[in-house]
Amino acid sequence: MSKILEVEINKKDKEVYTIVIEPDFNKLPEILVNIFSSCNKFMLVFDSNTEKYFREKILQILMCVNKKIHTFSFTAGEDSKNIITVQSLYEELIKYNFERNDVILAIGGGVVGDLAGFVSATYLRGIRFAGIPTTLLAMSDSSVGGKTGVDFMGYKNMVGAFHQPKLVYMNTDSLNTLPEREYLSGMAEVIKYGYIWDSKFLTYLSENSDKIISKDRESLEYIIFNSCRIKKEVVENDPLEKGLRAILNFGHTIGHAVEKLMEFRLLHGECVALGMMVAGRIAVNRRLMSEGELLKMKEILIKYKLYRKFEVSEVSFNLNDVLLATKSDKKMQGGKIKFILIDEVGKAEVYKDITDEELLDGIKEMFEG
Ligand code: NAD
Ligand code: ZN
Repeated sequence: MSKILEVEINKKDKEVYTIVIEPDFNKLPEILVNIFSSCNKFMLVFDSNTEKYFREKILQILMCVNKKIHTFSFTAGEDSKNIITVQSLYEELIKYNFERNDVILAIGGGVVGDLAGFVSATYLRGIRFAGIPTTLLAMSDSSVGGKTGVDFMGYKNMVGAFHQPKLVYMNTDSLNTLPEREYLSGMAEVIKYGYIWDSKFLTYLSENSDKIISKDRESLEYIIFNSCRIKKEVVENDPLEKGLRAILNFGHTIGHAVEKLMEFRLLHGECVALGMMVAGRIAVNRRLMSEGELLKMKEILIKYKLYRKFEVSEVSFNLNDVLLATKSDKKMQGGKIKFILIDEVGKAEVYKDITDEELLDGIKEMFEG
């Protein structure tokens, strides 16, 4: 079992990077040596959880690689994705004389990837970078596309850069230690890909939920490979986010609003799932989707424990608060929300003409009653 996907970085120069999907870390040393033959040093970046689970294992497996290896870790969580952690990592790189041809390896979820990627993009005006994602979200989403960055002044991903890795190595077995809730939250993005791009993939997700939830190796390889393939197809068509790439935000306009209103007590994917149901309701009201298709979306989300409705008494916000939070999203263009709707399963479209009334009718979908 082994899967390889090549992602284009630069159309003109036909530059690509490789995504490797494996059930272990065994091939990592050989691949690193091949790709980074000219480097002298690796800086392995972990957070406190991935350090606990993977530091020893990876150090051991890299013993045969004839390079100097340093490690850096920071407290797990979004709160660490900031300029202060970036500065500590710069300091460490300077302390150990990291040079242009040396390499940063990010071992962890999207937080480690975004932060280590940003440091790689900016240290010495850019050094090489490889990702070893260890969450489903990082494997299926954040490791493709080249976005890096940190949060600033309370704004998510406010400071960042586009910087592509040279290699992404995914060990599907590394998901075994990931808490179930984090894992299922990542499934929201995977389901999203089915809706925006590939109805056959969605059918697979619907019919194989037991295997996927139990982290069956073959199913993991299949869903991660196809998620990366779909994101790659979308991103390669729109590397700098001029148009098409916006469809990756399906479920996210409302999702981000709920994330903020819930003060991040719900995980990202859990909010995206709510956002997909709201978008689904708006699409039904516009007669783009049928009631039956929306019911199917609900059923898939239920299978992955991602479906919920709020009791009005359970939360401190109402329909209007969700509307306001949605409209304050920084992804608005000229005061208009770019909203992604599904025209048919497997095909998404960007809409800029969604009215407040339509939004409110859609938002009702996430409240009981
Ligand atoms: P995360 O990196 O915080 O990981 C979630 C939790 O799981 C953390 O506590 C982490 O320590 C722990 N963890 C990671 N791997 C583990 C493992 N194998 N076993 C046990 N615990 C493990 O969060 P995430 O959901 O992976 O990523 C979210 C971040 O990704 C956000 O900051 C978001 O902005 C970013 N993101 C970036 C992009 C992009 O294109 N760059 C896309 C989507 C999301
Ligand atoms: Zn997302």
